Amino acid sequence: MAAVTRQKIIVVGAGPVGALAALYAAKRGDDVEVYELRGDLRDASTIPLNFTKSINLALSERGINSMKMAQCEGLLEAVLNETIPMHGRMIHGENNGKVSEESQAYDVHGRFIRAVDRHGLNNRMLDELEKMPNVQFFFNHKLTGADFKQNLAWFERREAAGSASKQDGSKPHSEEIQVPFDFMIGADGAHSSVRYNLMKYARMNYQQEYIDTLWCEFLIEPQKTAQGSQHAISPNHLHIWPGGSFMFIAIPSLDKSFTCTLFLPALKFEWLDAHPESLIPFFRENFPGVVSDLIPEEEIKRQYNSNPHLPLISIKCTPYHHGSSVVILGDAAHAMVPFYGQGMNAGLEDVRVLFDHLDAHTASVVSSNSARAEARAAALETYTAQRHPDAVSINDLALRNYKEMNHDVTSPIYMLRKRIEES
Ligand code: FAD
Repeated sequence: MAAVTRQKIIVVGAGPVGALAALYAAKRGDDVEVYELRGDLRDASTIPLNFTKSINLALSERGINSMKMAQCEGLLEAVLNETIPMHGRMIHGENNGKVSEESQAYDVHGRFIRAVDRHGLNNRMLDELEKMPNVQFFFNHKLTGADFKQNLAWFERREAAGSASKQDGSKPHSEEIQVPFDFMIGADGAHSSVRYNLMKYARMNYQQEYIDTLWCEFLIEPQKTAQGSQHAISPNHLHIWPGGSFMFIAIPSLDKSFTCTLFLPALKFEWLDAHPESLIPFFRENFPGVVSDLIPEEEIKRQYNSNPHLPLISIKCTPYHHGSSVVILGDAAHAMVPFYGQGMNAGLEDVRVLFDHLDAHTASVVSSNSARAEARAAALETYTAQRHPDAVSINDLALRNYKEMNHDVTSPIYMLRKRIEES
């Protein structure tokens, strides 16, 4: 009987989904290598994803449960300690010329979602991985190709930012390396290179859609009071200024600021770019109480002009795997518009569901590495079959919630339904 050796699992992408997948894989005793295009995400010098300062995300049960099941002592507590409960939406508007607020609870039983800083959550998981002897990080490594018959991957290894040769003005050095593996987990985001390479092997159906809305980040600074810094508005709500075909939202941060997002049709962004004098009147008219009360005029102008206006993509594809060699998770498999607050949560859930399938198929297989690969292929087959319809449903719900957050939250029918539910 052939001996079973530890297998080499390579995880491409050290975002929240890749980091959690690496934790699950490492807990099962295999050798795990994590390859990440950018530098160590915990270094202040590493350029954040999407070139924004930070994104605050809504963390919900899906994501929490998946971190709990990682069985890393202290991880979930450390993450939850850095979250802020959001018990409902706060809908901002105007009533008889006065700024108004309407709190809408998320749940009649008092359940809530949490605001979390994506970098903070990501960093907690990278810290956990660093403690594990069977995990190795390869930052500044970009996947450029993969052969899923021979299980070989190619990475462009780049010199780290701030290294000696960069400082003396010479060009940063890069080289290609070849890496053999037993199993690749692709968690390299919406523009996934793993998915691109997987398409050459699997008969993948693929659909992508850019919605006609772009997003731009803003910041509400903490309010200075005699008692110290405070949140300028309720910290326990997700704040929404609905505008019909656009909206402005604010999510609380631990440092008492709010990370805000303006979602606006691309044409409207173009119009505001061409008519900069209209920016403040546009904010005043549509987002009552924001200008001056929460963000000074000059800051709105500065942030609008210096923060990027970024697209939103929705991706559906299937299958998520090929043989026993590779699987894609998270945004790589099902990037979705952010209006249901479930993109990362669903990606974290992918990890839990994937390892349920892998455990069920491979736990009793001790005979040989080839038998393990066979069992893994069967597990990946059942994983795609279960997960794809679920991911498509969440994707569709996210698009539907966009309409609700923009408009329906202020419609009389919605308000009536909400009141009946809460009474
Ligand atoms: P990513 O976070 O994209 O990470 C992928 C990683 O792979 C990156 O570190 C990248 O550098 C690396 N990489 C890319 N290419 C390569 C390569 N070739 N080689 C090696 N490494 C590579 N989700 C929620 O659950 N709740 C929310 O409230 C929420 N709000 C959002 C608001 C906005 C405005 C946006 C845009 C998204 C929001 N999301 C939310 C979605 C969430 O951000 C994503 O679903 C989540 O970040 C996906 O994680 P991931 O690890 O799959 O991919």
